[in-house]
Formats: sequence, C-alpha cells, structure tokens
Amino acid sequence: MAKTILVTRSSMPTYEEYCEEIKKLWDSHWLTNMGAEHQKLQSNLEEYLDCPNVVLYTNGHLALENIIAAMQFPKGAEVITTPFTFASTTHAIARNGLVPVFCDVDPETYTIDADKIEALITGKTVAIVPVHVYGNICDVEKIDEIAKKHNLKVIYDAAHAFAAKYKGISAANFGDASMFSFHATKVYNTIEGGAVCLRDPALVKTLNEMRNFGMRDAENIIYAGGNAKMNEFQAAMGICNLRHLDAEITKRKKAVERYRENLGGISGIKLCKPQRDVESNYAYFPAVFDGFKATRDEVFAKLAKQNITARKYFYPLTNSFECYRDLKTAGAGKTPVAAYIADRVLTLPLYADLSEDDVDRICEIIMK
Ligand SMILES: *Cc1c(COP(=O)(O)O)cnc(C)c1O
Repeated sequence: MAKTILVTRSSMPTYEEYCEEIKKLWDSHWLTNMGAEHQKLQSNLEEYLDCPNVVLYTNGHLALENIIAAMQFPKGAEVITTPFTFASTTHAIARNGLVPVFCDVDPETYTIDADKIEALITGKTVAIVPVHVYGNICDVEKIDEIAKKHNLKVIYDAAHAFAAKYKGISAANFGDASMFSFHATKVYNTIEGGAVCLRDPALVKTLNEMRNFGMRDAENIIYAGGNAKMNEFQAAMGICNLRHLDAEITKRKKAVERYRENLGGISGIKLCKPQRDVESNYAYFPAVFDGFKATRDEVFAKLAKQNITARKYFYPLTNSFECYRDLKTAGAGKTPVAAYIADRVLTLPLYADLSEDDVDRICEIIMK
C-alpha cells in the first residue's frame, strides 16, 4: 500500500527533552494555575515575539473569545471580519453577543480586502477582526488607518501567523491585540494552546482574571469568566518546541520551495506569491485549481485514493454555516472572491519532516 501522508504532522521535541522539562513537576506537584513552566514559557514568548505582554491560554479559540470579551463592547454591536477562516473566528464574535459582518477577501492573499471595509461600517460597528490567512499578513497599514479614522478596535486572528514578520515587525504587534493558536496542527504547538499578545498592558489584568473564572482573588470575583488556563504540560511542550522552531521553519521553507518548483507555472494551478516585506513562517501550502484538467474536488479525491490527505481549507465559508443562516449579513454570495477561492482551494500536505521525495510524489499524482 502507498505510504500515507497526512496534511500535517505535529512538531515534537525528542522524548528525552520533554521528559527533562517535565521532571520538575514531580518535585513541585504544581500542574496548572500559572506554575513555573507557564511563567517561563510566557517570558520566552515575550522575547521571541518581541511583544511585552503575552497572556497564555489553554487554546487559541478561548484566547480570541476572551480578548473580544475584554473590550466590553455593547451587545448587538457589529464586528467586521471575513468568512474565509476557521469556524473559530466567527464563533468567537457571535459567542460574545456581537454580530459578524462579512467583508470579502483580497484575491492574492485571501486576507480581508481593506478597500472594502469602509463600505461596511455603520453606527453600530465597534471592531475589525481580520485573519492572517495561511500566515499571509493582512494590509495592516490600511486597516490601522481605517480603525483610527472610525475609532474602531482591531483584533487580529493571527492563529496562522506565529513567527511571521512584516517589515521586520512580529505579527504579535499589530492592531490592539493578536491571538495565536498553539494547536497541534499549527507551525508552533503546545499540544493545545494559545495566546493573546498586546503592546498596551491595559487589558492584561482583565485577561488574567477572565481566563480564571473572573477571579481577582479568592474572595473577589469580577467577571462571569470561564476557565481557559494553560497547564504545565502544555507549557513544557511549548518551551521545548520553541527551541527548535526556527529550524523547523527552515525545513518547511524547503518543502514549500520544492512545491513551487514542481507546480509553479502550471496552467490552471494558482499559488500564493511570496508577499513583499513579509518574512513567512511557511504555515500552509494552498493551491487554487481553476482551469486545470481536474477540479479541486477531483484532485482531493485522487490524492485520498493514494493515502494522501489534502484539506479543503477553508471550505465552506463561515458565512454559509447553518448556524449563521439567519444573520442578515450571511450568504457566500455576498463575498464572491472568498466564495470563488473556497470552491477551488486545497492546502497540500506541509510539515517540517515532509521530504522532497514526498513533495515530488504528491505533485506527480496531481499532474497525472
Ligand atoms: C486554529 C485556528 C483557530 C483556533 O485555535 P485553537 O487553538 O484550535 O482553538 C482560530 N482561527 C484560525 C484561523 C485557526 O486556524
């Protein structure tokens, strides 16, 4: 049987390195609630991301939900975002009692089309939640300008953008806040995990309280908060994985270059161009099939038959989810560029240990 290749494979330290890191937990018996590993990872990340305020979470979704909650927008207020994203982004807005308003995406980067934002602003708009899709960096300058002009908050879903930089500035430092996901499938993982990054420390205390049942201390409970703390085993995995991240990204880059050599210039296959001024993290390898001899769904099926998993990512658009059908802003037809991409895109397998031979084999099957 042909060798199985999954769309992703989690980066891990050696077994010995992880054991060395968690050994201390058998001395302290302190397993969660901001223990020593949590504090060490937080400061390592503040340094790595060149961001003064990192608040750690048990996953990226709750990090995003919490930072939106921390802004304390009035219920029913509108938030401009895009439907070309993972369910999490739209859910985080809706679960805070806010109304997602869907803006179309740019046809080259698949991030929010900044030229289409202002037309969607109403008296109820309070924030913009753009997504750095595939690690492509949004038009942060134009978004910043619009936000300042209309007095809106900007919260980036940077789940895909860990370690990416724009003009030498880490993706953690744009807008009012950025959320990273450290899920097992991401470029950098803490098994499950996430963070909110802020330049301004004003909301740090609020986030610390919100992620821990809204408790300021044992007798003062300020918010009806949930539980979203990162535990010590997650933090230990993060400490180990961070040591090897730059090397892992270099390996991903090699695989991406191999894909580009094989598929670049093929009629009917469109690849993402490297972005100017962006240091990429090589998080995903999307290919858009349009006018190719096979459709996206046929390529997907052909790969699956050879035990290779690609992913229709992102499909369907969040504005066509059943749970949002009653929103007046719903409907894939209102975001035609996003709908076009969602119907044609496939992210191909990509991880640090994907060999050039594997890439060649995947491309051969696509081309056959
Ligand atoms: C992974 C992801 C999330 C959610 O992160 P989790 O850590 O899995 O909760 C949110 N947004 C996007 C775009 C993602 O890819």
